[in-house]
Parts: sequence; C-alpha cells; structure tokens
Amino acid sequence: MKIYEKAPAKINLMLDVLYKRPDRYHEVEMIMTMVDLADRLEMSELPRDTIIISSQAGYIPLDEKNLAFKAAKLIKERYKVPSGVYIHLDKKIPVAAGLAGGSSDAAATLRGLNRLWKLGISDAELMELGAELGSDVPFCVTGGTALATGRGEKLTPVANPPQCWVILAKLPINVSTEEVYGRFRSDRITKHPSASRMIQALDSGSFHGMCQELGNVLEEVTLQMHPEVAHLKETMLRLGADGVLMSGSGPTVFGLVSKESKVPRIYNGLRGFCKEVYAVRLLT
Ligand code: ATP
Repeated sequence: MKIYEKAPAKINLMLDVLYKRPDRYHEVEMIMTMVDLADRLEMSELPRDTIIISSQAGYIPLDEKNLAFKAAKLIKERYKVPSGVYIHLDKKIPVAAGLAGGSSDAAATLRGLNRLWKLGISDAELMELGAELGSDVPFCVTGGTALATGRGEKLTPVANPPQCWVILAKLPINVSTEEVYGRFRSDRITKHPSASRMIQALDSGSFHGMCQELGNVLEEVTLQMHPEVAHLKETMLRLGADGVLMSGSGPTVFGLVSKESKVPRIYNGLRGFCKEVYAVRLLT
C-alpha cells in the first residue's frame, strides 16, 4: 500500500520577537498561513524494521538528519510499530528559505504514517509529537491560518486571509535561522508589527488591511546581512505587488497581489535577476 501526502510551504504574515527566554528560545508572536507550493511525499510500508528516505533533490540530507526521517523514527518508536517505511520526497519548496519546508515534510510524515499504520492518533497528539521535532511542525500538522505564540508551537486558529496571488522569490543565498535569531537585538526594533491588528484585518476580510499590517522584525537582521533582499523587496513593490514581506528568517520574500492581471508583469520582472520565482495561490 502507498500513501501520498502534500507538504505545503508556510509564510508569515507577521512575525514579532518579544524576548529571549531563560531556555534560550525566543518568545515569538507570528501569524502563519499556507501557500499552494508543496513537496509531495510518497510512503510505502517495508516489512523490515528500517526507515529509508530518497529524494530527487540532491541538496538535503537523506539520512537520520532529514526531518521526515526524524518524524518517522519518533512515531515508530512512540507507537511501537514493528514494520519500516520507505519515504520518497519530491521537493518543490526551496530549502533553508524561511518557508518551513523541512517542518512541513515532518508534519506530512506524521499524518501519512498515522494513516499507513492505522494508528488512530488525534490531530492534537500529532501536534504534540510535532513539537518535539521543531517549533513550526505543530502548525504544519493542521495548516490553515493561526496565531503562534511561545516558541511558535502554541497555536490559536484565526480567520483565513482573503484569497489572492502570492509571488515568492528566493535569491541564491543561504540564511541560517539560528544565526538570524542570534544576531537579533530587540532594542534596535523601532516598530513592532501587531498581531491583534492583523487578526482584525483578517476578521474583516480586508486585503488592503492585511497588506498594511504585514511586518517581520527579523528583516532588521537579514536585510542588514544581505542588502540584496531589501533590493528584492523594493523591486517587487515597484513592479506592483500590493504588500511585500520577508518570510520567517528569510531569505524568501513574498508579495501579495489581488489582481491576477498584475501577476505576469511582477513574475517576469523578478525572473530577470532571480532564478527561483513562484506565483501561487494561498491555501485557504
Ligand atoms: P524554517 O522556516 O522552519 O526555519 P526553512 O524553510 O528556513 O525552515 P528548511 O527548508 O526546513 O528551512 O531547511 C532547514 C535545514 O534543514 C536545511 O539545512 C536542510 O538541510 C535540513 N533538512 C532536513 N530535512 C529536510 C527536509 N525534509 N527538507 C528540507 N530541508 C531539510
């Protein structure tokens, strides 16, 4: 038997860092939603007690460092499953891009193996397992749109954004999430985005309001380290995007666009200097 799962990318509509906790994690406030750019996972049962990962992407680990491997190992051990699994990852989400590709693969693995091995685990339990793998994994288990607090694992569902186009662009630079958080200084932040105002905009279904409330305090760090990301943001705005923001710790920048007729111009304009550009819809 084969099981297929889609693992969509997430974007942050807002991201605020409140303070550094004694356990060295940062206390955050984020509103996250998913976009229709997804990895595809194929899982099949193996009679032997082993986990095998393959992928067409040559640039991710395929051993026990892969988040899908970690998720399979965790669920297998916790629920004492004697058989093994072969997982093929068809990667479409850019890696180390601020789009939670690895976390979404881990969440899709938890959902898929719950079905493959008929374990009957509730979403709430899957989310708890997910939290052991990474802060973004619980959100990726259920998706939708949510306010995430704590280190990102405490979730409250909020209204889905109004449907629109999302143009994603990733420059060929690598940004380490750890390094960005390490360099973050809260005293340098002059303007914090507001979760409550973003929630209000979503509640009222206001596309314009949502664009106005976009904000990510980590831009302060990443844009300083990589000024070309700031340039990419400016270019997207100049080409006609209605709202533009860096996702997570970057370097991916996304632009929200309400009018479909504007999409080709923005997409083609960005393709001129950025190889990885995607025009997708929100997954709402
Ligand atoms: P986040 O937004 O959650 O910080 P990200 O989009 O910045 O995540 P990922 O694409 O999840 O980053 O990759 C982060 C690191 O995890 C990479 O260095 C990669 O080698 C490793 N990794 C492990 N498993 C996977 C996987 N299944 N897919 C992608 N990367 C993986």
